[in-house]
Amino acid sequence: MNLLKHTYDHLYLSPHFDDVALSCGGQVSRHTAAGESVLVATMTAAEPSPELHSDIVQSLHDRWANSLGGEPPAAIVAQRRAEDEAAFAVLRADVLHLPFLDCIYRCSPESDELLYPGAMDMFGARHPADEVDSTLAGALAALPPAGRVYLPLGVGGHVDHAIARSVGETTFNHVLYYEDYPYTMTPGAFEAVLPAAARGDWAAEFIWLTEAALADKIEAVAAYRSQLSSFFTGPDDLAAKLRAEGQRVLDEARATGEVPAWAVAAERLWRRSFHA
Ligand SMILES: [Zn+2]
Repeated sequence: MNLLKHTYDHLYLSPHFDDVALSCGGQVSRHTAAGESVLVATMTAAEPSPELHSDIVQSLHDRWANSLGGEPPAAIVAQRRAEDEAAFAVLRADVLHLPFLDCIYRCSPESDELLYPGAMDMFGARHPADEVDSTLAGALAALPPAGRVYLPLGVGGHVDHAIARSVGETTFNHVLYYEDYPYTMTPGAFEAVLPAAARGDWAAEFIWLTEAALADKIEAVAAYRSQLSSFFTGPDDLAAKLRAEGQRVLDEARATGEVPAWAVAAERLWRRSFHA
């Protein structure tokens, strides 16, 4: 764990390990290459009890172990923390791991029963007995102040992304939102969160990526070795998909305005406009 600075130019809130690298790795590279400081705070970095079992925990742990070559690590979150530190070493950003459990591990405080045991529960509504947001608010308020704060938009409807966004919105002023990749690849997922009819109250900001920034992003995402098989068939597929996503966003930018000739890819942020 690195020693944190008193203030940062940029603070990114990541619901899980890898969300910020996948969605914003190129812009983080551009910021730090320009000498600006970046802190990436990952919300669900606590190690679960090894006794905890459910179908979804078992199937995700099996998939992650498979990505690592078959052997399940004794402490899966410790493995994922180390991957996260390797990823942001590539992007020259500081990391902070907050002590909250991923929703797949969270239990009811009364009954010790898992709150999201089913395969699709994490993409549904927040469980009424889920109390993570009350303590998360305090943890976010204690983070070092930053010039710009970035929250997940919540594309894909994952409950941890929705909680990160809503608690972030009550903690910080004038936030920016990033588009949650790979959920942006699901047809209709972006539209569900930011419908075209509602977009008049929002302004898009494009971050142009150089080849070097895109290469950093690909290298950083590849550091999440346990997650590789969840989203990609291998390192070449990872590079091709991240490049394609960057070009998709670049094409979106071309449809609405000027794009610098040197840009090889882009990432898109959103902010609420205050004309109303
Ligand atoms: Zn996530």
